[in-house]
Amino acid sequence: MIPIRAYAGQRVGVLGLSRTGLSAARALKAGGAGPVCWDDNEAPRAAAEAEGFEIADLGREREAASITRLIVSPGVPHLYPEPNRAVAQAQTQGVPLDNDIGLFFQALMDADPEDFAETMDGDGPAPKVVAVTGSNGKSTTTALIHHILKEAGRPTQMGGNIGRGVLDLDPPSPGETTVIEMSSYQIELARMLAPDVAVFLNLSPDHLDRHGGIGGYFAAKRRLFEIGAPERSVIGVDEQEGRYLAERLDGPIQISVTRRLKGEGWSVFMHKGHLAEWRGGKQAAAIDLRPALGLVGAHNHQNACAAYAACRALRLGPRQIEGGLISFPGLAHRMERIGEAHGVTFVNDSKATNADAAEKALLAYQNIRWIAGGQAKEGGIAPLAPLFDRIACAYLIGEAAPAFAGALDKTPSKSCGTLDKAIAAAWADAKPGDVILLSPACASWDQFTSFEARGDAFRTLVTPYLEAAAEKEAIP
Ligand code: ADP
Repeated sequence: MIPIRAYAGQRVGVLGLSRTGLSAARALKAGGAGPVCWDDNEAPRAAAEAEGFEIADLGREREAASITRLIVSPGVPHLYPEPNRAVAQAQTQGVPLDNDIGLFFQALMDADPEDFAETMDGDGPAPKVVAVTGSNGKSTTTALIHHILKEAGRPTQMGGNIGRGVLDLDPPSPGETTVIEMSSYQIELARMLAPDVAVFLNLSPDHLDRHGGIGGYFAAKRRLFEIGAPERSVIGVDEQEGRYLAERLDGPIQISVTRRLKGEGWSVFMHKGHLAEWRGGKQAAAIDLRPALGLVGAHNHQNACAAYAACRALRLGPRQIEGGLISFPGLAHRMERIGEAHGVTFVNDSKATNADAAEKALLAYQNIRWIAGGQAKEGGIAPLAPLFDRIACAYLIGEAAPAFAGALDKTPSKSCGTLDKAIAAAWADAKPGDVILLSPACASWDQFTSFEARGDAFRTLVTPYLEAAAEKEAIP
């Protein structure tokens, strides 16, 4: 944990008591502050109270007036569509807002010799922070940078939106690189941002209600570069917003999966399955990404380019990075390759809860035995029609099955009801070279508690097929 000492002896409000809020409350307490906690829901309040935290309704004038800061969790609206009442009250009282990310950077800046002893000695290089943002691929890119650093023997830890909350991390030590995934909400509210390397992957409309439209959403992400002033920025320039941002910054590393960026600057781009690094109008390195089975598809190539660029900014050599790219196992539930049986590959893409995400998986494979369905999202799968020729047969589950069968039209499909039946049917039909792909384009809630539970069920259900095939293949 990273203790926050800047508010020792003060009352600090903590709004929202899920993972982030609780870790902020603990870090503040460890640093000598008196956290005053609130959540509009009863259960998280009770959990915080059981842990010994003071609970008070921060929406009340008297309580809001007693605090010197309000630490807001990312799940709590602070401006649009309208501010939470405790946020509105804090603003009326002139209490500044902040969040865990702001506290993290502040702690790094005011490093107390006791917490950051080695760092303060000037022993070894100062710890570095890499921050990753974007609409899609944040978790993958964060985990990939962390993996490459680890494989290269560099001390590293990761957190933020993925894994541990930033204040649950260990105090960064000399020579160590902390990789943090940051959402737009977190960037928007943080009072201090000071990454050494910052990555902007891409931008697509998302969470627009919370940002008052796409302009607000882009402005939130831009703060990481404008306020954060990283030493080196890595910018995805496949959308207009990325190109605009890159143009405003000094010497960014530009990345693309759609264009060959052979200009005078520093760039990383994809060409025919190879990642290429260009600097000063010359190719500096190239890596064949085709053996990188954990990074299949154009979207993952974007993540690979971003991670490569971030690691180059951290002064790793191209060959050191290559090893990590090739050995990256991928993240669970995101086009996760579970294994192969008799030439048939099983892929778990349970995280694809809408057509947009499923499109990425359909684009990445051919001869697909597609397991889809669940609780349908608006728009259904009609936008995927141009990719239906990649589907050998669809195996439909859950509530959306009849609608999906209709949308698939002449593409073969079978109504299977449940996941186990769909897997059995797909396996019975499969030929070597096929891919049995769970990429549901639906929420899971009609049959599972979460997309993770759905993906775990898929893994459990396909394991016997993999084991049986492995045993058979082991017999000479
Ligand atoms: P995030 O953390 O931003 O939600 P993840 O790395 O968890 O992103 O990936 C979630 C899903 O988004 C993946 O399953 C894939 O469908 C899609 N995705 C991943 N990377 C990208 C990218 N660079 N561009 C577009 N879509 C992506």
